[in-house]
Amino acid sequence: MNTDPRDLAGRPVIVGAGIAGLMTALELAPEPVVLLSAAPLGGEASSPLAQGGLAAAVGSDDSPELHLADTLAAGDGLCDEAVVRRIVEAAPQAIERLERLGVGFDRAPDGSIALGLEAAHSRRRIVHAGGDATGRELVRALVAAVRRTPSITVLEGIAARRLIVEDGTIAGVLAADAEGAVTLATGRVVLATGGVGGLFRDTTNPLGCFGQGLALAARAGAELADLEFVQFHPTALDTPVRPMRLVSEAVRGEGAVLVDETGRRFLADLQGAELGTRDAVARGVFRHLGRGHKVFLDTRACLGSRFAARFPAIDAFCREAGIDPALDPIPVRPAAHYHMGGVAVDGEGRSTVPGLWACGEVASTGLHGANRLASNSLTEAVVAAGWVADGIRNAPSRHVAQAETAQAPVRPDASLVRGIVSQALGVLRDGDGLRQAAAALLPLATGAGADADPAAVGLVMAVAALGREESRGAHCRTDHPTRSGVARRSKLTLDAALQIAAELDFTPLARSA
Ligand SMILES: Cc1cc2nc3c(=O)[nH]c(=O)nc-3n(C[C@H](O)[C@H](O)[C@H](O)COP(=O)(O)OP(=O)(O)OC[C@H]3O[C@@H](n4cnc5c(N)ncnc54)[C@H](O)[C@@H]3O)c2cc1C
Repeated sequence: MNTDPRDLAGRPVIVGAGIAGLMTALELAPEPVVLLSAAPLGGEASSPLAQGGLAAAVGSDDSPELHLADTLAAGDGLCDEAVVRRIVEAAPQAIERLERLGVGFDRAPDGSIALGLEAAHSRRRIVHAGGDATGRELVRALVAAVRRTPSITVLEGIAARRLIVEDGTIAGVLAADAEGAVTLATGRVVLATGGVGGLFRDTTNPLGCFGQGLALAARAGAELADLEFVQFHPTALDTPVRPMRLVSEAVRGEGAVLVDETGRRFLADLQGAELGTRDAVARGVFRHLGRGHKVFLDTRACLGSRFAARFPAIDAFCREAGIDPALDPIPVRPAAHYHMGGVAVDGEGRSTVPGLWACGEVASTGLHGANRLASNSLTEAVVAAGWVADGIRNAPSRHVAQAETAQAPVRPDASLVRGIVSQALGVLRDGDGLRQAAAALLPLATGAGADADPAAVGLVMAVAALGREESRGAHCRTDHPTRSGVARRSKLTLDAALQIAAELDFTPLARSA
């Protein structure tokens, strides 16, 4: 690292530079902040991959009330209604804020913002850019805005490996780059590290998104919420490429249908059919694949030769795989896509550890409940970045001494736990599988290997999923197929999960010779 860390002491440190980290840094300006990114700004992040867009009630036939109702319905009883209301009401201003920062959204011929439709939205309310390249445009504009903001010190290629906690309060970040470890002394840290898809074999997330922020928060003692809720996207392009390419729900919004190898629309009877909630469509596709069928998204009748103009990015990667969506049905399967759970935060993005905030996919604000409504996450990240910035500005400043730099833990590697997590925490779960997974992950999570942090995250997720003996939203237990009468959010710390895992009664897997 070229900068002397002592020159940065006391500044808020934002860990991660996807939309949440970039926006938090911009919202804090002109307060000096450090933006720490393991990859180049906006890289190894889900943000640039976003296709559909941002949900905001800006259409003339729409209102925050309708957006609220759709979000609550998708969340299956677990949304925090006050949080949902705050976010949907702030969403239209968030779009204006992004435009002022230089984001160019697509416009209709009359000059109004063009609006797409996605599953389980009762109105056209998806604000997009470059057709299906919304994330790329967001990241382009926000990275440019960050680079021209002198109060933001950008440290690229440096990963946070541990949070330093003294007397239960944040005192710094232990980070590492190729040259070694460095300590950033600060009493204010924002985690903006994204999701957990990289813990799964089939995922649309960059493989580096495997819950590093969750591990940092968990090891600092923070409470985590709703970790069992992982959204599986029903239509990832089914090729060997990882991460899997996403065929956006907006394609189904334009009328594309799901068919099998015989051409049968096997989800026609599902409520909402192809535009039913994501969890229901993903389960329908997963079960149909499990019965030995192949599944395709057929866009030929609804879009045909217009496909390439409406969805240029999807068209390009389909063609790379030898598929022309105007002529061929697109092979698809479900993939881990979004984590509804995360670091439990309050209305200012504060975690239970003083000095630690979380924003974006790593946080659990209560917006998504058991199932995220499509395109609500980018909106949430933009709105919540403002809350976090306000909270940090209002937090009393504390002097934090520059600690000696300790040795950083080895660089985490999720490849060893991916098989265990994919098997136990996939679209369909059961108690036996979850107990096996927790038992297998326990010794890894308490060790010092490269798999320790990914294993700790997988373990807390497995324990949370075991504790939820019902099926709700994206969490489907084949041994508890019904929804319990009482909707409750789940909260766990790493210590509690380790103890539960250590006391589990389970039958070890039979080993093959
Ligand atoms: C293919 C795809 C399409 C999507 N489409 C949409 C959509 O249309 N609408 C929508 O609302 N949502 C969409 N989502 C979800 C949405 O993109 C994400 O929820 C959102 O971008 C997350 O933003 P984030 O800033 O929280 O995390 P990310 O964008 O994932 O950024 C995380 C950052 O943290 C960095 N990082 C991680 N660990 C460390 C560490 N230890 N130290 C330093 N840096 C670290 C990463 O390198 C990265 O820069 C989509 C997701 C995917 C994968």
